[in-house]
Amino acid sequence: MTGGHAPRYRPPADLLRDRVVLVTGAGAGIGRAAALAYARHGADVVLLGRTRAKLEAVFDRIVAETATKPVIVPADLATLDEAAADNLAEAIRDDYARLDGILHNASVLGPRVPVAHYPAAAWAEVMHVNAMAPVLLTRALLPLLEAAPDASIVFTSSGVGRVGRAYWGAYAVSKFATEGLSQTLADELESAGRVRVNALNPGGTRTAMRAAAYPAEDPATLPEPQAHMDLYLYLMGPDSAGVTGRSIDAPAWRGP
Ligand code: NDP
Repeated sequence: MTGGHAPRYRPPADLLRDRVVLVTGAGAGIGRAAALAYARHGADVVLLGRTRAKLEAVFDRIVAETATKPVIVPADLATLDEAAADNLAEAIRDDYARLDGILHNASVLGPRVPVAHYPAAAWAEVMHVNAMAPVLLTRALLPLLEAAPDASIVFTSSGVGRVGRAYWGAYAVSKFATEGLSQTLADELESAGRVRVNALNPGGTRTAMRAAAYPAEDPATLPEPQAHMDLYLYLMGPDSAGVTGRSIDAPAWRGP
């Protein structure tokens, strides 16, 4: 398997036209593919990540290929606090005056060791990047999302966010937290009907994180990030209006 399967959903070319979408971890892997896919479907993408050069490369590609207006936000989510999240919300309000979606994608794997030997500082960092930063960003950006006609928040889960597994430590715990945050927020926002909230597990995908987790695996046996983009587009665009509180496995998804 080299690139996945036939598309399960065919997004219109202008699916995200006039929309503004924040993608965290937009410089590499799945986040990079999603940022490019969103821009190619018309979105102005806010590219957040910790390595400026990677964000600039994605920015340049978007500007070369599309007529959209991306912006880069170099930020280390390991140190993100309420003030930094509020500053980001203010910058998005100033630049675009709207926000239609967030893809919470950035994560770190952390050490692959037994809980008994897991360094506390590393545990705290993994929890902050993977689970706390999405809380801070979502809270700061919620007023903008609630002002949009139909906004979407997409969290990124994992198989180990549903069933714990030895040596996945804080990463697994952070993904359980992500599932919990997604369900809780979806329930809180459902009655107003303006912001949908879902969690997505991409499944094994050919990226640097997967290679670090499974060093003996042949990457050629895995789908590339591009293989999941129909689902990433579906959940971000208006065709998924009304879909909320779901937790979706990309490999098992068969379409809307
Ligand atoms: P990668 O490691 O390839 O990319 C992660 C991205 O997040 C990078 O752009 C990275 O930036 C960014 N990032 C990491 N830490 C921070 C931080 N502290 N602040 C800001 N940005 C940060 O991961 P994947 O693309 O594989 O994973 C994407 C998502 O999918 C993650 O949530 C992951 O848990 C999930 N997932 C992935 C699977 C897989 O098989 N690949 C399977 C299941 C879930 P930089 O490049 O600058 O370090």
